[in-house]
Amino acid sequence: MTLLAGGTDLMVDLNFGRKRPERVVAIDRVPELSHLEGNGHVRMGAGVTYTRMLAEDVGSAALREAARTVGSPQIRNAGTLGGNIATSSPAGDTLPVLAALDAVVVLRSKQGERRVPFAQFMTGPKKNVRRADELVVGAEWDDAGPAQTFMKVGTRNAMVIAIAGLALVVDRPRRRVGVGLGSCGPTILRAPQAEAFAAAIFEAHGWDRHLTPSDAELKEFGRLVATAARPIDDVRGTAAYRRHVLAVMGERALARVWSIT
Ligand SMILES: Cc1cc2nc3c(=O)[nH]c(=O)nc-3n(C[C@H](O)[C@H](O)[C@H](O)COP(=O)(O)OP(=O)(O)OC[C@H]3O[C@@H](n4cnc5c(N)ncnc54)[C@H](O)[C@@H]3O)c2cc1C
Repeated sequence: MTLLAGGTDLMVDLNFGRKRPERVVAIDRVPELSHLEGNGHVRMGAGVTYTRMLAEDVGSAALREAARTVGSPQIRNAGTLGGNIATSSPAGDTLPVLAALDAVVVLRSKQGERRVPFAQFMTGPKKNVRRADELVVGAEWDDAGPAQTFMKVGTRNAMVIAIAGLALVVDRPRRRVGVGLGSCGPTILRAPQAEAFAAAIFEAHGWDRHLTPSDAELKEFGRLVATAARPIDDVRGTAAYRRHVLAVMGERALARVWSIT
């Protein structure tokens, strides 16, 4: 049995003959999957579309920025969080954000519910730990505050698969920095050295204060972000280019969120 949410990944597979499911169950009109609640802790249903994610109350500024970069208005009206999670492409734009937020993927089957930290969810390109009998019900994370951003480099500004993507979350209340990297490894990657480097600077200056980073600090953060990548050469870009743009994006992302409290 194959589930169909927005169909923006599944229909491509059907049209190219990559999948021929015997049974398709449409879940796009299951209202329970479209919930979005957040008051300190955000619960987003798998059926939430990118268009819905553009609203102020989405529970993550980085997710809102990521949603804005996805496809066209038609794709954003149909495509869902759950479809992006279930497809598990390293280029899925919500996924670096979920990684940086330390989000949990909620799965449900007849056996019950299980909650898998996003860091343990993806196992390879388009591979994850979801069992065939499980539905992605949604994702959850602690509201990390406004200091977060998402950046993506592609061959043009819209309707483009990322050559590299980066989400940065500076969670001031919980005193942690999260960096999620897309399209630069077999799964979404974290950049632990870059996270620790930035966290140490916030620790030294005070997590709740406005800061002005030095150029050297921004550069070093970008370098550490690029170090975490495991990129390959492919049709979209070379490994060297991916490392270069990750360093630039890391630098710019930190400069963007540094002063947001
Ligand atoms: C023109 C175009 C542009 C695109 N641009 C982007 C882009 O910029 N960034 C990006 O990240 N993606 C992009 N995509 C890919 C796609 O839009 C996203 O991955 C989207 O989130 C898929 O969601 P969907 O609801 O359409 O999934 P569907 O196509 O309905 O499903 C995708 C897969 O997930 C499974 N599935 C869906 N929902 C669930 C669930 N709740 N539980 C378990 N399994 C489920 C389906 O069975 C299927 O295998 C683009 C696609 C197209 C066609």
